[in-house]
Amino acid sequence: MNAIKVWIEEAVEELLKRNPDKIVINSGKSISGRIHIGIFRELFICDSLRRILEKKGCDVEFYFLLDDYDPAKRFPSYIPADYNKYIGVPFSDIPSPFSEGESYAEFFANELISTFPSFGLNPKILWTSKLYNTVEMKNIIRTVIERVDEIRNILITYVGGTLNEEDAEEYRRELAERYPINVVCQKCGKMQVIDKGKIIPNRVLNYIKETDEVVYYCHSCLEEFKEKVDDARLKLTWRVDWPAKWFLLKVTCEPAGKDHTVKGGAYDTGLRICRDVFGYEGPVKIGYEWLRYGDVDMKTHKGIVFTPREYLEIGQPEVLRYLIIRTPPLKHISFRPEFLPQYIDEYERVERVFFNYQPDANNEEKYEANILYPLTLVDTNIKNIKPRLPFRFAVIFSQLKDIMNQQTIMIKAQDVIKKIYKIPVVTEAELKEIEETIIKAGNWVLKYAPENYKINISSKIDEDIKENLTEAQKTVIKKIIELLSEGDFTEEELQNKIFTIIKNVGGLNVKKGFESIYMVILGKKYGPRLGSFLLSLDRDWLIERLNSALK
Ligand SMILES: [Zn+2]
Repeated sequence: MNAIKVWIEEAVEELLKRNPDKIVINSGKSISGRIHIGIFRELFICDSLRRILEKKGCDVEFYFLLDDYDPAKRFPSYIPADYNKYIGVPFSDIPSPFSEGESYAEFFANELISTFPSFGLNPKILWTSKLYNTVEMKNIIRTVIERVDEIRNILITYVGGTLNEEDAEEYRRELAERYPINVVCQKCGKMQVIDKGKIIPNRVLNYIKETDEVVYYCHSCLEEFKEKVDDARLKLTWRVDWPAKWFLLKVTCEPAGKDHTVKGGAYDTGLRICRDVFGYEGPVKIGYEWLRYGDVDMKTHKGIVFTPREYLEIGQPEVLRYLIIRTPPLKHISFRPEFLPQYIDEYERVERVFFNYQPDANNEEKYEANILYPLTLVDTNIKNIKPRLPFRFAVIFSQLKDIMNQQTIMIKAQDVIKKIYKIPVVTEAELKEIEETIIKAGNWVLKYAPENYKINISSKIDEDIKENLTEAQKTVIKKIIELLSEGDFTEEELQNKIFTIIKNVGGLNVKKGFESIYMVILGKKYGPRLGSFLLSLDRDWLIERLNSALK
């Protein structure tokens, strides 16, 4: 059994080696627009660690830090054009572009945070703009000022090493002239300007110890200002800002995207500053690969996003948690909404393995399910497998409104569940979930489903289709009518019996046999898996339809 290990166990072991009194897991996000589901990779890793560590009796704090103090570099296309006047202003100071929310940052942050309960997330929310107002942060800034030479040396070693000679020289010169501290101008409210594509930040140029004042130059006002450290709106440059936050919050673990976690990158620079300047060991580094949307990288500022809310319209949150948590962080994930039925099948198998309803599961699968399944749950009190309508049925039911009324659909759906789970009744709560699943499936069909999931049943069969049926195909249809009149079948039984009928009728290959049924019902040669599809339909209607094909 020792050979089997799930990635998250290794991460937990490494964290426990630190043996801290309190484990602080941190995650962060800048808020330049609509936030896509990519952030869930980081959040689900954090939340999974929290769950496991808490189960082991650790005292765990989980923070989600919203970087609302970052200045706007550009705006996505769905933001009014006159917002360009706010370029250089921190997102926390820019008004909300829509009717809700105080600021730009708050609007988009709330859009994300409001989905957290649905995904089983409950981190403590912190705002960078507020952290920078605390006495503790002001003191950290004073430490940075005091030990600026050490910081400059670390930055030159780590950042300078990645630049060509000319750029490294310029970097060195800039560092020597300024402090790694940006300032929001007291007059115009900007932290930086962008000139010909180049970002020019307002930096602290000098510090006057006697009066505890900073001197800075605003590149927008073209003016020099002097302000007390306590009054000035300061922000550490980001390679210093990150370790400052780790030190301030005593962070013991923080995952970060692969771009920052490469050897010698921003994370390593931060760890060095954290240890050497602040005297704090810093967090355990967990690097992760992007969560991609199909074949593209999602980009908030370009508006290439698939949001948590868009996901909730089509899928169960547990399935997304599973998709992310099961994958080791350094392996990339492509989320493809058109694959949703497959994701759901994989998730439901893990669920069955966990609850011992999957006899063919091997030891490795059982071991993984025991660790991963509890991490997928939104409602962590679930003690038994939940009877639920399989998505493939929901997809069909969601498209039958033209030939069956809602009540009939619900009765058929309950029949399906009763048969699969061998239960006599379906509870109110389960009924509500059936309805929700059918709604989600309907949304999925409208927006993302591949053609073979789409059903469009005409009120009667096309004459052409009738005329083109061969004698063998007609025999198949006749025998299926007889079969349906015999009684109740499970999905598998029905599928197998139809298969046998087709094989036993001579002169017809299996494909042609199946095609004839689809043609009669859907007017096309393919459709959802026949067993589940036929069971979803009203039996009398179905028999009538098949009979009409023979007339
Ligand atoms: Zn200014």
